[in-house]
Amino acid sequence: MMTGYLKKIRIMIPLILLIFILSGCDYQGLGGEYPESFTIGGDVETPLTINTMMGYPIKRVTKDEKNYTTIALEKVIASAQPRSTSYDLLLIGADGLSSKINGNDLSDCHLSYSNRYDWELINTLHPISSQIKNLSTIVVISTDLDEDKKAIGIDDKKGYRSTTAGNLYLNGFTEKRIFEGQSEINEKTVAVYTTHKQVLPKDLLDFQAEIAVFGRDGSIKFDKVSDKSFFEISETGINYTASDLTTITDVAGVLGDPPRFSIIDVAPDAIHQLEKGSDVMVIELDGLGWTMLKMAGEQGKAPYLSSLSAQPALSVYPPISPAGLAAMITGTLPNSNGINNREVMDFKGTDIFDKARALNKTAAYIEGDIKMLNTSIEPVLSVNEGDQDRNVYENTQKAINAKNQLIFTHFHSIDDDATTYGPYSRESMEQIYEVDKMVQELTHDFRGTIIITADHGLHPSGSGGTHGRICYEDMLVPYMIIKNGQV
Ligand SMILES: [Zn+2]
Repeated sequence: MMTGYLKKIRIMIPLILLIFILSGCDYQGLGGEYPESFTIGGDVETPLTINTMMGYPIKRVTKDEKNYTTIALEKVIASAQPRSTSYDLLLIGADGLSSKINGNDLSDCHLSYSNRYDWELINTLHPISSQIKNLSTIVVISTDLDEDKKAIGIDDKKGYRSTTAGNLYLNGFTEKRIFEGQSEINEKTVAVYTTHKQVLPKDLLDFQAEIAVFGRDGSIKFDKVSDKSFFEISETGINYTASDLTTITDVAGVLGDPPRFSIIDVAPDAIHQLEKGSDVMVIELDGLGWTMLKMAGEQGKAPYLSSLSAQPALSVYPPISPAGLAAMITGTLPNSNGINNREVMDFKGTDIFDKARALNKTAAYIEGDIKMLNTSIEPVLSVNEGDQDRNVYENTQKAINAKNQLIFTHFHSIDDDATTYGPYSRESMEQIYEVDKMVQELTHDFRGTIIITADHGLHPSGSGGTHGRICYEDMLVPYMIIKNGQV
């Protein structure tokens, strides 16, 4: 008896043969699929494997008196969603032959399929070398790295630069086969390997004994570069495998020779002092980067702050105000407290005010004109128009006079001026001078331990300043602890 399944096959075979004959021997299977495919990867949102022309407009193209059935390369690339509007394409053939073309000028580029050459580029205006046959891979390479949200920042002795997975493709990588296991059936064994595109630290960084690798989720891995550590190009970005084989997935950037102090030390340092019986005041100077304070010191614009012994400390990724503040008050990284963007106000875990209350300590939190996070105590907002930081200063004085045992105060004007005029501008230096005076007066009036630090620094951008990437200017801030009178 014939089953329904076999019946179906009996009908299908002549049908497939008929399609095969009608399609001019293009091996196009049912559903319009070809036996060979190519992939689109690199700097795209949606990596694709293409084995059909279905879904794309078909165009007949004539080149050198030959007719081709094609689809537009531009449309195919668009369907993979390039991460930047400006990009190059690296076209790689099965034989390894490759060529690079400008992705913004693809109007004459078409993809055709034939038995002889599988997928083939038919470019009517480009040089012949771009006509890759047996196409296996197209790598999209962002050329506007500021626009590509998956670009990674690197800062070390060579200075700041950024790159992307697509650009690493172009600069070279080591293809490594890694044994994944073996399967056995009918006494036949098959070993399974996966192919990894590895970039060695020495090919990406200047020689550095130590690096800090930041994950896009806010995680950090401090590592000593060794022959076991490597970066890897993945479909979604760049990963890092450290010497101890732990992995950072989706790297945001790398700093060479990072400081070991970090702004997440604020909470444990403050709580430790409260436990020892010292009162604590934390002064957060928004946007005061390590290099900005150094310059202000050299120009005589930070007489008090530069008289203190400051250590460079690491901010967190992303180096933005809410992430920095959350890291300070919780003592945890953004991947654990959940604040790695500007949208969320509720963090995970307890803050220093909660911990102070558990120690029966009174606490005050002085903010600028808006609440940044949903802290366990309400901030005192400072709304003085024109000179908000003067109001922050006055509110902090009140908190000192009220004998609060923990005070956290947040000055904003340095960041405001560095954003508007640039971090090294005369205006920013003058503002550091103003804040320096207020900080000196507050520390003079407070008995106890004083921690002074910043959430992030800024780097110049256009006529002003900005922050948010992995570079020393954004990521390094001063960290100072002073003891005054008490303890
Ligand atoms: Zn800030």
